[in-house]
Amino acid sequence: MPSTALPLDEVDLGPGVRAGFTRADGGFDLSTTLGADLADVAARRSALAQWLGAPVAFAWQVHGDQVLECGGRLPPPAPEVVGVADALVTVEEGVALGVLVADCVPVLLADPRARIVATVHAGRRGLVAGVVQRALDAMCARGAVPGDVRAVVGPAACGRCYEVPPEMRQEVADVVPGTWATTRTGTAALDLPGGVARVLVSAGVAAVTRTTACTIEDASWFSHRAAAGGHPAGRFAGVVRLLP
Ligand SMILES: [Zn+2]
Repeated sequence: MPSTALPLDEVDLGPGVRAGFTRADGGFDLSTTLGADLADVAARRSALAQWLGAPVAFAWQVHGDQVLECGGRLPPPAPEVVGVADALVTVEEGVALGVLVADCVPVLLADPRARIVATVHAGRRGLVAGVVQRALDAMCARGAVPGDVRAVVGPAACGRCYEVPPEMRQEVADVVPGTWATTRTGTAALDLPGGVARVLVSAGVAAVTRTTACTIEDASWFSHRAAAGGHPAGRFAGVVRLLP
């Protein structure tokens, strides 16, 4: 049986909210599509749900801009997903929200006063499509106020590592200010976490925290790009839940 120890960095999204990011320690892969034993993944997701105190809803992420609101109905057991979306929003205490990543940016959002939480999967395409803004809009449609929203931008590929063709850097930076970056070796790159933070700040979110971890540089986190170079392959999760 796999260890039920939960490698997780808790983050503060305000009173009445529990949130964090799972680490890759011990091969804590939460993906159901990368070849991991599904019983092991189910056990890890169960350990995560236990820490959160509620089952975790995951979406089928497609690098789009769709936001799915999770109602009070409990999500189906892993490895099922609640729907196709790159952002999840809920006002319910009975369900936790999760986002799976390995280099793309996991974003956790909460308005502790209005009691609304959200997760966002923000890769390059989703960020350009506006998924971060759409998630915030969905929260505000439910009564959240940007000035009360707290955000954590989780571990992701950083702007010194995420090399892209110069034309792509230009195209993305034209749409999302704050993404223009240069690698250590001086080539074109994108700073997706920086772009996410800029979108949130521009939208009036007062409390934006950026984790400094880079998934490509730090083997504590799964990395799609670094997997070929010895990094373990897998996906880690950002999770958030409203506590009763
Ligand atoms: Zn980096």
